[in-house]
Amino acid sequence: KTKQIAIYGKGGIGKSTTTSNISAALAEAGYKVMQFGCDPKADSTNTLRGGDYIPTVLDLLHANSSVDAHDAIFKGFGGIYCVEAGGPQPGVGCAGRGIISAVQLLKQQDIFEELDLDFVIFDVLGDVVCGGFAVPVREGIAEHVFTISSSDFMAIYAANNLFRGIQTYSNKGGALLGGVIANSINTDFHHEIIDDFVGRTATQVVEYVPRSVTVTQAELSGRTTIEAAPKSEQASIYRRLATRIAEHTQSKVPTPLGQQELREWSASWADRLIEAENQRERAIQVA
Ligand code: ATP
Ligand code: MG
Repeated sequence: KTKQIAIYGKGGIGKSTTTSNISAALAEAGYKVMQFGCDPKADSTNTLRGGDYIPTVLDLLHANSSVDAHDAIFKGFGGIYCVEAGGPQPGVGCAGRGIISAVQLLKQQDIFEELDLDFVIFDVLGDVVCGGFAVPVREGIAEHVFTISSSDFMAIYAANNLFRGIQTYSNKGGALLGGVIANSINTDFHHEIIDDFVGRTATQVVEYVPRSVTVTQAELSGRTTIEAAPKSEQASIYRRLATRIAEHTQSKVPTPLGQQELREWSASWADRLIEAENQRERAIQVA
């Protein structure tokens, strides 16, 4: 049976990078994987294809209404099936529609059965545009949702908003939350902030991924870290993350913080961070 996973997170937080490395690690482990980019930028599968852009399902549908779905599927690293849903230009129309039509096309032509996939991973666009972000959750397209967050409060706000969406649709067949992929976690404070947040929202951290130049180098060569630096520490972290996601079974309904609660929580952390910074400066002055 195919496991369907959706990866969410604030714009620019590392969804496409992390998703591509998860796909690459799963492919390397012998699984049949499809990565499905849902961002109108259509850049999700870039590093699986040597920096190449592939035509989107919506582009193909616009050019010809009787599209053969096979023409929208391109093989990437490790035989990964790469698909980009495409969508409207920023600010025009609802990006959620792109995902629905793209998934429909593949379903109508029995592509998911034909390819006999182990995993379909949706890289869902970051910005909450006209509710389009809720589509995979609402339509039950994915069973498990993971969100990427750093310890930055804006990223945590976005994760908390997603939790509210999941909670809202959870009794209508919507997808449930697998957990948080903590990205750019390099200090003790980063760890503590994200741990505190997942504790308060009844979820869990699936893996802590540091910010690393290995990722930047790989991206600049049009590849995932798994492909470009297979022996690196960063690659082994992505492999561990992929294994956790592969083995994950029980997703849950999170308990999002209320707006006021979230503001008070961030303010209390801001106070702690300022106090720590002051202490550090005093220590430097003494020395
Ligand atoms: P968008 O919302 O625009 O689709 P995104 O969430 O998909 O963005 P990415 O494009 O994956 O984000 O990442 C944004 C940038 O951050 C990229 O240049 C990527 O290489 C970098 N990045 C992400 N994670 C890491 C990491 N752990 N270490 C180093 N760089 C990273
Ligand atoms: Mg992206």
